[in-house]
Amino acid sequence: MASVKEFHRRSIEDRESFWREQAALVHWHKPFSRVLDYSRPPFAKWFVGGETNLCHNALDRHLAERGDQAALVYVSTEVNEERSYTYRELHAEVQRAAAMMQSLGVKKGDRVVIYMPMIPEACFAMLACARIGAIHSVVFGGFAAASLAARIDDARPKLMLTADGGSRMGKVVLYKALVDEALRLAKHPPEKVLIYRRGLDPNMPAAAGRDVDWKALAARHEGAQVPCAWLESNEPSYILYTSGTTGQPKGVQRDVGGYAVALAASMKHIFCGGPGETMFTTSDIGWVVGHSYIVYAPLIAGMTTILYEGVPIRPDAGIWWKIVQDRRVNVMFSAPTAIRVLKKQDPAYLKKYDLSSLRHLFLAGEPLDEPTHVWISQALDKPVIDHYWQTETGWPILSAMPGVEKTPIKFGSPSFPVFGYDLQLLREVDAEPAAANEKAVVAIVPPLPPGCMSTVWGDDARFVKTYFSTFSKMQVYSTFDWGIRDAEGYYFILGRTDDVINVAGHRLGTREIEEAVSMHPNIAECAVVGVQDALKGQMPLAFAVAKDGSKLATPQGRAQLEKEVMETVDKQLGAIARPRTVHFVTLLPKTRSGKTLRRAIQALAEGRDPGDLTTIEDPGALEQIRNALKEKAAA
Ligand code: AMP
Repeated sequence: MASVKEFHRRSIEDRESFWREQAALVHWHKPFSRVLDYSRPPFAKWFVGGETNLCHNALDRHLAERGDQAALVYVSTEVNEERSYTYRELHAEVQRAAAMMQSLGVKKGDRVVIYMPMIPEACFAMLACARIGAIHSVVFGGFAAASLAARIDDARPKLMLTADGGSRMGKVVLYKALVDEALRLAKHPPEKVLIYRRGLDPNMPAAAGRDVDWKALAARHEGAQVPCAWLESNEPSYILYTSGTTGQPKGVQRDVGGYAVALAASMKHIFCGGPGETMFTTSDIGWVVGHSYIVYAPLIAGMTTILYEGVPIRPDAGIWWKIVQDRRVNVMFSAPTAIRVLKKQDPAYLKKYDLSSLRHLFLAGEPLDEPTHVWISQALDKPVIDHYWQTETGWPILSAMPGVEKTPIKFGSPSFPVFGYDLQLLREVDAEPAAANEKAVVAIVPPLPPGCMSTVWGDDARFVKTYFSTFSKMQVYSTFDWGIRDAEGYYFILGRTDDVINVAGHRLGTREIEEAVSMHPNIAECAVVGVQDALKGQMPLAFAVAKDGSKLATPQGRAQLEKEVMETVDKQLGAIARPRTVHFVTLLPKTRSGKTLRRAIQALAEGRDPGDLTTIEDPGALEQIRNALKEKAAA
């Protein structure tokens, strides 16, 4: 077994031969003539001249050996339904969906916007687009009509796919009605909308000439055979919108060949998922994690993938562990927020099921605080691997790589740079490399490895300006995250560079303070924001959720816990990081993907408008922040 260090070194120093080897993990219809063309920095072209297809690699390639193996298992605790598709069945469904799209005029290079709940048809649609070379853009079901319209206007789709409705916590969410509204707002609406009726909206209106019924059209394409379009490795496979510092979302554009290779390599060396095994990723297909690790990567690896529609605590907090037991899940991928939700529930649920099949739990998407990392590791008695990446990269940047070497886990750290990433910690002021334990900007020296975004859809200049202009001295990709590396080479992510707080000249990451607050045994989770302070420039403010709320019933109890939390922060980080106040709430405002809406909290704390809240999970959480602030002000 190579060491992680050596493996990484070779991926950078001997880049072309390293990636040529990894490229053998996928099928090439036509071999590539060059591993990398980097003649137009920072635009990298991988596997130039090679022809392949994501859908072929995900499905067709496996038919001979595993046609009867389950490929996709759908479990819905929202509508109490389970469906399972073998590779052969999924192949047939995807061909049928491809034929349906073609019948509606979709051709190679056309965009298809998919605004669907977590149902198998959404996966059929993604794979069908990949099959015929259409470019999918999945929009997360939680986005409001105006956000959807903005994405439609940027992508200009030929076709849009939706369902009558979805379900969240047993409550129907009307997808089609929202699409109708978005199409009224959009300047460039598609000509056709294909709708999968689940029976969740019996009164759903249909627009004559525009709306097409999925099931009726599917009946006409039973048994359709649609060959894969062979695409040059660098042609676009999909666009996925992500928010940045500006109000206008960016269309992250991904290629075909580089993405297939990166995903296959990540499954082997990071996630350790092999053919015939089962992967359960609890994300949503509307996010990058869903694209990479619900749909493409597990199928490329010949695994069974689980598509779960529901929440982690319904019908009870044991549901995910029951799925692990019943489906013999080998690899699980989730997010820290979900684990913190489970941490507040009865721990007996974790002991109730046989989890012997599970090898690793991977967590990503947001900082994994040390107490949560320790708790879940002990509760599962399995390695829990924190790994760090972004929508832009499509696959992990920092991670342990148990497929290469079983390195010890350090709680609170996503371990080491992943192969292919020439990661640097650069000082913000002069772009010089930081010393051990010195906080600096996490940057990637280009070329970005295979699988990362190729550009911003339709806007090369924005790609360069947004990501490669942080340092005037050199052109490197900024992650906009702070990080440190300890003396042993482990990295720690300290929050966004754009969320930094400056307290009396001392720069502090809100994440660092959150970690410290969470060290108090009665804190389940918290959010820290910087607010203006006349004396010190900024001061941190903490909003915390207590594990045991009974201690907060009286003003004295609240004051006591606040005092203890402050002492904990003093102890962990020093008095400089002590929050001005600690407000107690029972939930934090988050997006549906679990990211805390710090900016909205900060805005409220500074008496400003919280801005765009279309992705908020529960508006009640923001109300709690408002009330908590009012209460303190009155006291
Ligand atoms: P997104 O593109 O929405 O997945 O967000 C990416 C951002 O989430 C990163 O730039 C980080 O700020 C944060 N992030 C993702 N994974 C981690 C992690 N394991 N630890 C800390 N922060 C993370």
